[in-house]
Parts: sequence; structure tokens; C-alpha cells
Amino acid sequence: MTRYLGDEWTLPGINDATRAWFTSGRLKVQRCDDCRTWQHPPDEICGGCQGNRLSFAECGEAGRIESFVVVHRAVHPALEDRIPYAVALVSLDDAPGVNAIGNVLNAAPDELAIGQRVRAVFEEVSQPEGGEVLRIPQWELIREAR
Ligand SMILES: [Zn+2]
Repeated sequence: MTRYLGDEWTLPGINDATRAWFTSGRLKVQRCDDCRTWQHPPDEICGGCQGNRLSFAECGEAGRIESFVVVHRAVHPALEDRIPYAVALVSLDDAPGVNAIGNVLNAAPDELAIGQRVRAVFEEVSQPEGGEVLRIPQWELIREAR
């Protein structure tokens, strides 16, 4: 897959907190080992019980568009050939309370609506420095058969 936002667009920084989300090719979300609360983005402390026994667990790739924006004006020259594009806030079916942000690929912005079903797709790209492979979660519409 070619990079959705172009080769010169900044890639996510990878560290122990972000590696599972951006490299696994799965939706790996932080979860509290004690109270089982899901949270995203990851933190050092659980938002449910303030504990610090946190790990990453895989959840299903389906979700629901809770909100979205369609970007019509490039905020950076690297985005000029991408407009209009959509950025959605998606609630994950298997991780209550978790919303994740990503681009909606392969859909015209006027096809989108709040409540639509989406699934994660992963944009694979290598870090220019170090060569670590990122698998950046993005979204695509789940199109119902008619
Ligand atoms: Zn907890």
C-alpha cells in the first residue's frame, strides 16, 4: 500500500507505549490487568482504578464512526494532493470506552455518516531511520451487501 498521506508526511513516534498500536498490524489496546478497563491512547496509569498494572490486548477490528471531519483545506503542502480526505473518530466494538482516530480510506467523504460501521486496515510503511516497519491503523467502511 502506498502511504496515504505521502512520503514526506511525519510518521508516528515509536516507544514502549506506542509500539503495539503502530507496529503489530492488529488493534492492540492497553488494558488494565486489575480492573480490565480499556484505554487509548496508552498511559502509565489506569483511568479506571489508577493502578499501574497495564498490558496490551488485541481486540476485534470493527467499530462505529462516532464523529468525523472532512478536510478540504490542506494544512501542510504534503497534503495538497489528498484533499478532500476524512478523519474519523471510531469507537471499537470490543473495547468499550475506547475511541481511535484515523483516516477513512477508499471512501468518498460524502459517503460517510455518524453510525457507519468500519473496520481497521493497516498502512504498512518502514521508518526511514532504522527501518522499523509500522502498520498504521486506518479505517474502511464495512459495506453492507444489498
Ligand atoms: Zn484499572
